[in-house]
Amino acid sequence: MHSKQDKMRRRFALLAALLFATVPLATAQQAPANTSSQRASADAPAVPTPMPRAAAKRLIVIDAGHGGVDPGARGPSGIREKDVTLAVAQRLAAILRQDPTLEVRMTRDRDTLIALNDRTRMANRWRAEGQPALFMSIHMNASDHKSAHGFETFFLSEAKTEDARRVADMENAAQRYETEAPKLDPLSFILHDLRQNKYLRDSSDWAAMIQRRLAEVHSGPNRGVKQAGFVVLNGAYMPAVLVELGFITNAQEEKKLTDREQQARFARQLARAINDYFEHSARTAAVRR
Ligand SMILES: [Zn+2]
Repeated sequence: MHSKQDKMRRRFALLAALLFATVPLATAQQAPANTSSQRASADAPAVPTPMPRAAAKRLIVIDAGHGGVDPGARGPSGIREKDVTLAVAQRLAAILRQDPTLEVRMTRDRDTLIALNDRTRMANRWRAEGQPALFMSIHMNASDHKSAHGFETFFLSEAKTEDARRVADMENAAQRYETEAPKLDPLSFILHDLRQNKYLRDSSDWAAMIQRRLAEVHSGPNRGVKQAGFVVLNGAYMPAVLVELGFITNAQEEKKLTDREQQARFARQLARAINDYFEHSARTAAVRR
């Protein structure tokens, strides 16, 4: 943020210096003393604007997994994944909205179904040209093994392990609730877009930051950063991750995931990981197109 403002300021200073240096020479005869500054502002629109006004804020798109007729996974006591994802997403949005330098958007803020492909489409539409942006999809894991527990963060790429493929298949199954879901195998169309490919490294870096932050409050284990073909991450022109906060099918984790205090703790850590990323990218300027 600061570096961007500084950059803009430097560009305007340079522009002003150029105008001040050239205009008086060309118009020295008729120009009163203050004309050069008037001319500088009158000429300004003709010069490409460094950043659109809307891009002054960094965009974070929060995606609460599932919703509406798609309950997601269910816990042993009947808790539905879609309710927990929405609760955590709302907490996270509330925390982030305290920061006036962030533009916070939610793909859903109520119990409604949004097609997987539409979620990144919305994110891309909200993003102004050149605006730094992040997309985070929030989920709970599920397994037939009731003892499975822990947290993991995915970015979009071909699955490297059977377990990663299992998680993607499970999350992609939400498409069965969509009337116009593409019949294609998701893996057949992912990552063919170069605009998206360039965010892979950033997504992977951000996923690692999220895992580090969650590890500070989660009982674990830290299952690490993984990759798989998630439809919900496909087509995002920004770093995009899917966070599995824990196994809703594990009785202890189900209890934690539905605890308001614990939800707030997770939301705080996710907010910190978002700040970590933006701070990191302000240093490296990696988030910009
Ligand atoms: Zn899910």
